Amino acid sequence: MSANFSFQRLAQCSQTKARAGVFFTPHGLVETPRFMPVGTLANVKTITPSQLRETGAQMILSNTYHLHLQPGEAIVAGGGGLHKFMGWNGPMLTDSGGFQVFSLSEMRKISEEGVIFRSPHDGQIINLTPERSIEIQNTLGADVIMAFDECPPYPASRQEVETATERTYRWLERCMVAHQSSEQALFGIVQGGVYLDLRSRAAEALAKLDLPGYAIGGVSVGEPPELMAQIVQVTAPLLPPEKPRYLMGVGTYREMAIAIASGIDLFDCVIPTRWARHGTAIVQGDRWNLKNAKFREDFTPLDETCPCYTCQNFSRAYISHLVRSQEILAYTLLSIHNITELIRFTQKIREAILGDRFIAEFGHWLSKADGAKEWESGRQGRVGE
Ligand SMILES: [Zn+2]
Repeated sequence: MSANFSFQRLAQCSQTKARAGVFFTPHGLVETPRFMPVGTLANVKTITPSQLRETGAQMILSNTYHLHLQPGEAIVAGGGGLHKFMGWNGPMLTDSGGFQVFSLSEMRKISEEGVIFRSPHDGQIINLTPERSIEIQNTLGADVIMAFDECPPYPASRQEVETATERTYRWLERCMVAHQSSEQALFGIVQGGVYLDLRSRAAEALAKLDLPGYAIGGVSVGEPPELMAQIVQVTAPLLPPEKPRYLMGVGTYREMAIAIASGIDLFDCVIPTRWARHGTAIVQGDRWNLKNAKFREDFTPLDETCPCYTCQNFSRAYISHLVRSQEILAYTLLSIHNITELIRFTQKIREAILGDRFIAEFGHWLSKADGAKEWESGRQGRVGE
């Protein structure tokens, strides 16, 4: 691992593969397990960086595909790089654009070289290759950058997934050659769809490359939750234990708890901010629609145990009023609370792992019987927002 990055394991659960650690980056540390808020277009929608800091956010995400299209990496570099441009001096990660190219763009043409697609902004033809993705991410300047991957849809045939998984590996090798900066850590992405043998093979091949970190991609794309759990349970333990592991696009309580039990350290998802913009609060793992009549005269906070600015200062009735009136402040207050909620969940799990109480305190999230709190999956989160 580059001298600028290191991962320290502090505790290991005695009953599962869950672990607690610290990931050090040039812009600060990330205590793991940790939820990472998504700021696709160099902002976490509706909240300021100082509000974001108060949620407990440590590392946040931005997106290569979206920033390349608008405003373009040259403007971000002109503004001093992503951290300075958006006013966030903490750790940052950029996704490679691979997933968005495959899920968002029309008229794309995939070849061994890369992907050619038409910009949805101005119709211009864009050629994104592993080298180009790394070049853009080097210019943007996040601490962690992601390999350019091919993310097959769900469902897809075994042959399609195998072809994409093997190409993702060859693209990773090209990303490693293209990436020469020690200021940024390049994470590889394990693909393989729902085919567990392809996942295992990909994870074992990537593990040999001695990358500074590893991600599991291509989950939460519509597959049943049991399949996603199986993929993570099979894949995560094959990745080097001394490196951070990131499960892309996942951010529900149950999914995070299951993944942490398999040894995952980092998560991202747009659920907290997207739901906020739909007037939905996340409270203790449930989702509440603030338009519901029962909140109109409820003068208690969203969550009495929550330390966030929203819960410390405002009532459900007030937020319900703002949502009904479509006031922008509603989205800000709900985003602050929802992000705090998901980060707190991972913080509480971390404390439990440190005291070896993970199963005692969070074991109920791992059992299938507690289906009432299941949410829809959140991987579509990687699609812009
Ligand atoms: Zn709150």
